[in-house]
Amino acid sequence: MIVLGAGLTGVTTAWYLLQAGFRVTVVDRQPGAARETSFANGGQISISHPEPWANPGAPGQILRWLGRDDAPLKFRPTRDPAQWRWGARFLLECLPARAHRNTQAVAALATWSGRQLRDLRARLGLEYDQLERGILHLFHSAAEFAQAPARARLLADFGIEARICDRDACLAIEPALGAQADALAGGLYAPGDESGDAFRFTQALAGHVAVQGGTLLWETEILRLVTGRDGGAIAGVAVRTADGTVDTLHADACVVCLGSYGPRLLAPLGERLPIYPVKGYSVTAPVLDPARAPSVSLTDESRRIVCSRLGARLRIAGTAELNGFDTRVRPERVAPILAWAQRSFPGAIDAERAEHWAGLRPATPGNVPLIGRARHARLWLNTGHGTLGWTLACGSAAALAELMCGRRPPVAFPFLAA
Ligand SMILES: Cc1cc2nc3c(=O)[nH]c(=O)nc-3n(C[C@H](O)[C@H](O)[C@H](O)COP(=O)(O)OP(=O)(O)OC[C@H]3O[C@@H](n4cnc5c(N)ncnc54)[C@H](O)[C@@H]3O)c2cc1C
Repeated sequence: MIVLGAGLTGVTTAWYLLQAGFRVTVVDRQPGAARETSFANGGQISISHPEPWANPGAPGQILRWLGRDDAPLKFRPTRDPAQWRWGARFLLECLPARAHRNTQAVAALATWSGRQLRDLRARLGLEYDQLERGILHLFHSAAEFAQAPARARLLADFGIEARICDRDACLAIEPALGAQADALAGGLYAPGDESGDAFRFTQALAGHVAVQGGTLLWETEILRLVTGRDGGAIAGVAVRTADGTVDTLHADACVVCLGSYGPRLLAPLGERLPIYPVKGYSVTAPVLDPARAPSVSLTDESRRIVCSRLGARLRIAGTAELNGFDTRVRPERVAPILAWAQRSFPGAIDAERAEHWAGLRPATPGNVPLIGRARHARLWLNTGHGTLGWTLACGSAAALAELMCGRRPPVAFPFLAA
């Protein structure tokens, strides 16, 4: 098997395929694992956040945010028809029945993924600055907090525990919130959630893939997929290695885990993946005063910012921008994220030494990943994880390995051609 891409999705796929008894080669253009979108994400294993951005309230919200540089979700129109197609499908996925169906599917996969992650961690003794302290969702307006009970009931329907917390309960869970206590309306606490560094996790797991006999080819650009003589089934990939050599790697099957770049590579085959890059930003700052920095992972629901303690660092992430494949860090987009952390936790971090980063979430319109068979024989997909690639990585990969073994994974999820 050739796994295309070595982000969170590719490396976990390689691991579970090895466990299923396949011989596996992973190919990536970067010099190591998790160097693109999986590099500096929000760090949340957010089982308690299965709701997609595409929900009935989204169109109104996006209109209200138009023209604001600090808008949590920003649409920068380009001439790329793929952006407009994706936008139209996003609006369709905002219909209540569709949004509910998408939430249900992601909740089921996320719950299963959490179990897979815990099993894998225990088995391999993985260390990645993980904390099993839950996620506290924060609401800063009474109107938003008033929605929390309905959300808790919805999560309960999916078997996900979430407790309503008044201000004092929020402070008891995370004392570092003291400085912003007055601005807080309340919270929703999901004790089963976790946090951790996706980059460290992926790097460590890639090491285990190598130890178990997997081959990892770095600095190898995938140029195109190669079909067999009959023109139908996939026979391998054409690649260019670091020294410029162009070669063909043959395989019994290929799995696409290429993040936002999958659609471009598959388009010449007539495979249309509804994935578009949704850019996000993060700031990672050294912690100066551990008592002032949160250790429970937080989601500010009012400002769409998340934050996770990663050992001696605090990672703050957020914003969504439909802006094509531009990965440059725009100061005006990253500034509100850093300002949020400084305002919320004064004196906690060293902002001068903060690292700024931007990455492209490979998003489907409804935030439901594409897992299963593609239209071409011997071509499989595990991609399009959007806002939840870290949360869903282990479950998606374990499910794909089951599908490739001809078994149905025990998850109520719309796997492709299963
Ligand atoms: C700001 C931000 C915050 C986020 N926070 C969270 C969070 O808190 N929790 C959560 O669950 N998720 C979060 N996410 C989402 C998560 O990070 C992504 O869903 C996940 O990283 C996607 O992983 P991937 O493996 O699909 O893609 P990637 O990590 O991008 O991997 C794709 C790989 O394919 C390789 N590649 C692409 N094209 C080629 C080619 N032609 N040849 C060779 N190699 C190629 C790339 O080099 C790359 O290594 C966040 C994302 C962002 C941007």
